[in-house]
Amino acid sequence: MTLTDLETWLRETSPARLEELWAETDRVRAQNVGDEIHLRGLLEISNFCVRSCGYCGLRRERKITRYRMSWPEVLECARQAVEYGYGTVVLQAGEDYGLRREPLAEVIQRLKAETPLAVTLSLGERPEEDLLAWREAGADRYLLRFETSDRKLYERIHPLRAGQERSDRLALLRRLREMGYEIGGGVMIGLPGQTYASLANDLALFGELDLDMIGVGPWIAHPETPLGAGKAQAGQPALPAGEQAPNTEDMTYRVVALARIVCPQANLPTTTALATLNKATGRELGLARGANVVMPNLTPVKYRALYEIYPEKDCVNETAEACRLCLSGRIHEMGRTVGKGPGNRHR
Ligand code: SAH
Repeated sequence: MTLTDLETWLRETSPARLEELWAETDRVRAQNVGDEIHLRGLLEISNFCVRSCGYCGLRRERKITRYRMSWPEVLECARQAVEYGYGTVVLQAGEDYGLRREPLAEVIQRLKAETPLAVTLSLGERPEEDLLAWREAGADRYLLRFETSDRKLYERIHPLRAGQERSDRLALLRRLREMGYEIGGGVMIGLPGQTYASLANDLALFGELDLDMIGVGPWIAHPETPLGAGKAQAGQPALPAGEQAPNTEDMTYRVVALARIVCPQANLPTTTALATLNKATGRELGLARGANVVMPNLTPVKYRALYEIYPEKDCVNETAEACRLCLSGRIHEMGRTVGKGPGNRHR
């Protein structure tokens, strides 16, 4: 699909044409990754963060209660993933240097030795030595969304403090691939200042990077962040009318569907941000329109509300057990099956 085709789909207004897109996408999904839906247990291991991302509720300027799970807690929750039949555990956090290289490497080693789980990390822009040590310890995958391919927009929403250097998430993803990780990228949809054209460009970039995993979701305004309070836009020229990509449920399905077409074999989750916009059927519609992965939350309930990247996150008060039961019920109702094993990238 060309850039023009991608943008045309993002702007399509005919409901009948969109139905064709959903049908085509579901066919491409079935043909390339089958009917299995892989469950990845998500553990939000720390909400400390050194970054000041303009959209994120964990940004370091916010005065919130911070937590860091202990390593025995992490191991215990990961064992719960095994018990629930999940094939993967995802360790996610703010960019927290209190999560030190060696202790985490030991935890990864133990997980790989004592469980059949695939281990995915999503810990921000850590230095090369950390990423190498964790890979050597056995970590399988790394998730690092590049957030937007529009360089100017990226810089505006990722302000730097003195001493911090401008990073290059695309270069980092390529480096992670060289290290032998499966790599996951993705973007937020409808960021203030994000155009349809740049969103089409994001999709083309998924294909260029040949991502193994793609996570996309709507930008959700967090009122206690600069972007959510409308401040990051100050002094910026407004976009011409009709150029701003909306942060809607509808736009999210389009991006999920087109991501499936651009990367037919990728593992593509239906994200919590999408479920947050439509609690009743958001997940299912994502799965019917290209997605093949769900990430049930395994974070202990006492920490869950504190991992508030955006407000009103879906399932914030549910226990891991409730999450598991609810999801497997929904999957069977759709006529799909729960995936077995680690659910590596299809080839
Ligand atoms: N610190 C890690 C993990 C970040 S949380 C990292 O930097 O990669 C995972 C994702 O949540 C982010 O990559 C971002 O795309 C998304 N996110 C953060 N704030 C959000 C918001 N307000 N609305 C929607 N998605 C958000």
